[in-house]
Amino acid sequence: MALYGIPVLVMKEGTRRTVGRDALRANIAAARALAEVLRTSLGPRGLDKMLVDSFGDVTVTNDGATIVKEMEVQHPAAKLLVEVAKAQDAEVGDGTTSAVVLAGTLLAKAEELLDQNIHPSIIIEGYTKAMKEALKALDEIAVKVNPKDKDVLRRIVNTTISSKYIGGDVISKKITEIAIDAALAVAEPKPDGTYDFRVDDVKIEKKKGGNVLDTQLVYGIVLDKEVVHPGMPRRVENAKIALLDAALEIEKPEITAKINITSPELIKAFLDKEAEMLKEMVDKIASVGANVVVCQKGIDEVAQHFLAKKGILAVRRAKRSDLEKLERATGGRIVSSVRDLKPEDLGYAALVEERRVGNDKMVFIEGCKNPKAVTILVRGASDMVMDEIERSIKDALNVLRNVMRSPKIVPGGGAVEIELAMRLREYAKKIGGKEQLAIEAFASALEEIPLILAETSGREPLDTLMKLRQLHSEGKKYAGVNAVTGEIIEDMAASNVIEPLLVKESMIKTAGEAAVTILKIDDVIAASPVKK
Ligand code: ADP
Repeated sequence: MALYGIPVLVMKEGTRRTVGRDALRANIAAARALAEVLRTSLGPRGLDKMLVDSFGDVTVTNDGATIVKEMEVQHPAAKLLVEVAKAQDAEVGDGTTSAVVLAGTLLAKAEELLDQNIHPSIIIEGYTKAMKEALKALDEIAVKVNPKDKDVLRRIVNTTISSKYIGGDVISKKITEIAIDAALAVAEPKPDGTYDFRVDDVKIEKKKGGNVLDTQLVYGIVLDKEVVHPGMPRRVENAKIALLDAALEIEKPEITAKINITSPELIKAFLDKEAEMLKEMVDKIASVGANVVVCQKGIDEVAQHFLAKKGILAVRRAKRSDLEKLERATGGRIVSSVRDLKPEDLGYAALVEERRVGNDKMVFIEGCKNPKAVTILVRGASDMVMDEIERSIKDALNVLRNVMRSPKIVPGGGAVEIELAMRLREYAKKIGGKEQLAIEAFASALEEIPLILAETSGREPLDTLMKLRQLHSEGKKYAGVNAVTGEIIEDMAASNVIEPLLVKESMIKTAGEAAVTILKIDDVIAASPVKK
């Protein structure tokens, strides 16, 4: 009995499968294509991308993480690079463009090696060794700094945000100072002499209008809310704040109830009863000593009236996240039933005040019990401008957190990449064989960063690279390129282009690991898309 001719179905019909080198090359091509998009966005002269999402919303940015997140990438291998950007962003919040570009270049160089018939497993081994060696060398190059030295912090922030959309010198300086003051305010000392904070500890509140230069740091919490009733005070000193997540309203019954009211007196009695209940709630709030109420839910008009009579300042429909921030900032406790409110649940702030910001009013809660509560109030003419300012502030805060956590810095402007490449080439010679080629490829991939920086500043890239290699071989390990003017600088640190060690470490790790992951794949099995 002949079995020939009978198809054996292992996978579902319609499954697409690519194997071996075809799979590998297709993956490399996709990943490279994505990295290529980011290439021109690298550095202070990097260009912006305009991204339009499926709803027609527009984002203009040159922030690597934002670009790849908005791009709605389809190809699985390119998606892996999106993960690289996300991982880099989550871990250190900076260096995302560099990480994706490096991963793409590592794959491009790997492809050249494949063309020379070098087996992927050798490339993987070479890359893994190169990664380890590069991280070791990086640590040797790094120098220790004082994590509270404002001057050092300024130089580091400058390197990060000089490449962002806000560009203008005055604006960058302002943002830099604000970010540094905010970071210093929230940073907690650690036993080993370093500091740490979460970027989220700094609240960012955006209010459209005014000038970007009106952006300010508030030592406290700012609520994008008005005081709810005109009869209430606009300013309360020595504020004792009740944080409520219950409504100051009479709850509507869940089941329909029918009330037969037969006379005008009964209507009055009914309404009086409601008012009485609301008054009881307000009396309770006043009796525990609160003079400010921040409520997550609604406040009935009658309750507003009673609160106003008692001289209590109240805000309604505050965001849950703001209430939680207030809990930490004022030392209060969110209470979900007015009946349970106790004096010890109240938070404290030296001043609660409603202020006019542009055409709107906002409530400022300053001098909180916990001085680590700060808000950056961002101003700007459009959402797009404010979003980009917010991203720059977050980048600055990330970079500050990185250097406070691990107070070591390396030179930017491609200097550290050239130095690492040089050291890797020396190391490659010691390893020898075909792996040597892979380690050298890793070295060349690192040099792509200074190449791009030279290119975007309008310089002849190869020429610049050669000169930089020469300087590094003479022991000038801080030599790099000024990516604004294209000049070669012998000491990037002296020109204020420096970066935290953590950012470069993470760039090498995430990019190297992603490249290796893609190189390991030799079979792509894609199920047919679900039919709608
Ligand atoms: P990433 O998302 O990778 O942080 P950026 O667009 O911020 O990308 O570019 C960072 C690169 O630009 C780093 O290699 C940094 O050293 C370099 N860089 C930033 N400012 C300068 C400058 N003034 N001169 C030279 N290089 C700079």
